[in-house]
Amino acid sequence: MANPIRSVAIIGGGAAGAALTIHLCRAGVQVVVFDRATRPPAVVGESLVPATIPFLRELGIEEEVAGYSTYKRGATFVLGPDDVLNFTFADVRGATTGYSYNVPREEFDASLSARAAECGAKVVRGTARVERVGDSDRVRLTPETLDLTEGFLREQPDLIVDASGRVRLLPNLLELPFTAGSRNDTALFAHCEGVAQVVEGDVHTDRLERGWSWRIPLPGKMSVGLVMDSDTLKKFGSTIDQQFDAYLKHDPLIALWGEHPRRLTPVLKYSNYQLVSRRGFGDGWVLAGDTFGFVDPVFSSGLLLAFDGAKQLSRAILAGGGERQMRRYEAHVARHIRAWQQTIDHFYSGRLFTLFRVGETMRESLLGRMLGPHFEKHLPRVFTGEASAKRYSVGLVDFMCKRALLDNDPRLLAIR
Ligand SMILES: Cc1cc2nc3c(=O)[nH]c(=O)nc-3n(C[C@H](O)[C@H](O)[C@H](O)COP(=O)(O)OP(=O)(O)OC[C@H]3O[C@@H](n4cnc5c(N)ncnc54)[C@H](O)[C@@H]3O)c2cc1C
Repeated sequence: MANPIRSVAIIGGGAAGAALTIHLCRAGVQVVVFDRATRPPAVVGESLVPATIPFLRELGIEEEVAGYSTYKRGATFVLGPDDVLNFTFADVRGATTGYSYNVPREEFDASLSARAAECGAKVVRGTARVERVGDSDRVRLTPETLDLTEGFLREQPDLIVDASGRVRLLPNLLELPFTAGSRNDTALFAHCEGVAQVVEGDVHTDRLERGWSWRIPLPGKMSVGLVMDSDTLKKFGSTIDQQFDAYLKHDPLIALWGEHPRRLTPVLKYSNYQLVSRRGFGDGWVLAGDTFGFVDPVFSSGLLLAFDGAKQLSRAILAGGGERQMRRYEAHVARHIRAWQQTIDHFYSGRLFTLFRVGETMRESLLGRMLGPHFEKHLPRVFTGEASAKRYSVGLVDFMCKRALLDNDPRLLAIR
């Protein structure tokens, strides 16, 4: 029987939208992907976890990405002036990928978009608009949006995919219920130069006096992000540029970054980004990537969730796109997001790093030698993304963070 879904309109050509486009085009589905022509001066989502590498290979862009990105061998967590935790991907027991990349998003998105076009998709540089059909929860592209396709779509597509990222086009239009995260942080971010690294190429996470920061080494520059509650930031200036610059000068841990960072871009602000839709699909539409849900930037899980979700969604569509297939897709994404959320909560509460410390002190004990290899196989692979969708591994991290801290107080390593 022919697949009932023959034409798909994808709104948003970011990681989720472009990856889905490529999978569907390769299977012969007619796809149009809309992507707004305007871009901010810098885009977040630059650090990839190792589990994204097999997706890059499958999409056929790894070699190209390697050419303009920074090779990333691990992650460095700076918990205090003399307290540094280092994590090398190649040392992870049972890892199938022992490296990753930090990617400049402009080039990365261009690689994805070029591959989508090569696969036969119609790539439209323009803003797509949708409207509700009567009082139903069915939606359609506006006539002007259909016109943007220059005849590629002569009538409404069989399916509309909302991959518009944090714009959340359909969830806003349809007023879909969502779950907001417990943190109400703001992320300020800019590209800088003159920023030191502890381990070259690693993504660096520093536990600051307030909140935390990222340092993502990119060719010729450093992506720097500050994540903390907005009330704290407001004390450092009235504009986001002032707040960013003043906080960098203020924090004692950042003083150890060496030469003072010089900004190469204006500061960009992201807030209220912990948002997960409680519905993933409806009559003729489906959500993908950040539009479905995004929990927190701390473990660089966003692009993995986008690629993994796109793969699952392509399978659901190619299997007929019926209620059963879409429900399976929805359940998979919701579970994957929840797994990251749980681990992220343990980061903020201090339980995760306390567990690492306990692991270090127990390593040479009899119990440590007996159980160590098992934990070392499961725990780090949750962070590299290879086991972030595996119930046992994620459950083990959760159990250990709750039950195996001995008499250590996790609040000492909590994010303030
Ligand atoms: C502060 C912060 C830091 C982050 N850091 C990381 C990180 O280091 N690593 C990581 O993996 N993830 C990170 N993320 C998450 C990551 O950026 C996202 O998860 C990822 O980009 C999601 O991809 P996407 O395709 O769903 O959305 P996006 O990449 O946002 O793509 C959506 C696209 O849709 C387009 N669009 C929107 N509306 C329309 C419209 N109406 N018509 C046409 N086009 C439209 C937009 O222009 C955009 O190109 C971070 C997120 C935040 C908030």
